[in-house]
Amino acid sequence: MEELKSAMHTWIEIDAESLRHNLASFRARLPMPTRLCLVVKANAYGHGVEPIVSCALKSGLVDWFAVHSLPEARQVVALTELPVLVLGYVPIAAIDQAIHPQLRLTVWNAATVRALAAKAEACGTVVPVHIKVETGTNRHGVLPGDVVDFARLITSLPGITLEGLSTHYANIEDTTDYSFAARQTEVMEEVRRQVSPLGGDLIVHTACSAAALLFPATHHDLIRLGIAGYGLWPSRETLVSASSLPEFTPLWPVLSWRARLSQVKIVAAGQFIGYGLTYRTTRTTVLGVVPVGYAEGYPRNLSNTGHAVVRGTRAPIRGRVCMNIIMVDLTDIPGATLEDVVTLIGRDGDEEIGAATLAAQSGTIPYEIVARLSSSIPRCVTGA
Ligand SMILES: *Cc1c(COP(=O)(O)O)cnc(C)c1O
Repeated sequence: MEELKSAMHTWIEIDAESLRHNLASFRARLPMPTRLCLVVKANAYGHGVEPIVSCALKSGLVDWFAVHSLPEARQVVALTELPVLVLGYVPIAAIDQAIHPQLRLTVWNAATVRALAAKAEACGTVVPVHIKVETGTNRHGVLPGDVVDFARLITSLPGITLEGLSTHYANIEDTTDYSFAARQTEVMEEVRRQVSPLGGDLIVHTACSAAALLFPATHHDLIRLGIAGYGLWPSRETLVSASSLPEFTPLWPVLSWRARLSQVKIVAAGQFIGYGLTYRTTRTTVLGVVPVGYAEGYPRNLSNTGHAVVRGTRAPIRGRVCMNIIMVDLTDIPGATLEDVVTLIGRDGDEEIGAATLAAQSGTIPYEIVARLSSSIPRCVTGA
């Protein structure tokens, strides 16, 4: 592993033990029949689908996987025999590719349901579908008053079967006032009561990470665990609310992003650094060049404000973040030298820069920081 890494200018480490810890902490809270569905959309939140699915399978703690799209679903079914739920839209022209024994689709359009049923029937198979219920988020979904009719349409068609009902919370990460989420849960309960007579044993699911962490009543029959599985808090608000609960368990970040110093040099006082001459040295400076930039997913708006960690010490970013290059100030880090490891996200010695820190500093959320890490960065599993 070390030998492999020495030949890389940048890489992402996936800590299998941290993933296992996070999954185990959720598993421990779920009543037995409740399924743990790990959401691996967006290249497993930037962590890499292949390493995350294989580590999750090794842990034995995951029952289902969820993805956004059909291409993602095809990638995941090649790695596991577990059920894979597609959360997002499948174009009608591609619907035949959704016919696979492990796949189940989330549906909200009659046209999609009819096309799927016809294809599945022609293939002599039955595809399970989940209705997305519109409870207040107003993105995909069927209005509560229309769900029974939609469910009847599904149960009337050969080729498909109604397996589940789902909804998604609009206001559970951004607040400590959970009244809107509570109303969405009530609407969902009412829809379940109306649809149950049609569908036998329906799998009802509403919980994302924040809901799963804070409200056992949202666990229903399955939780769709995303960000917290990767060891990141959905928001400060969720962390604050969760820390007062008796079952509070710290999450362990799964991902570290590292690179290697590609040049270390002395720059005289009064020199400009980088595009736009936005930084000027005030002293003789030891400058390090780091071969990653915004194309790899480092936020460009951390120009002159972010930090990386070298030899366990924070090194401030000097000048603009370039497409594939960042410059850092190593003047206060004695001994820093060519090919030293630079940590962009993660821990090095006593110093740690979390995805949440990068998010807060760059005006976004941890989800965006990790989801935008380029798939071109090699992923290595550690702690396995
Ligand atoms: C992404 C997503 C999730 C996971 O959300 P987290 O906050 O990352 O846990 C759950 N459900 C749906 C529908 C999603 O799109």
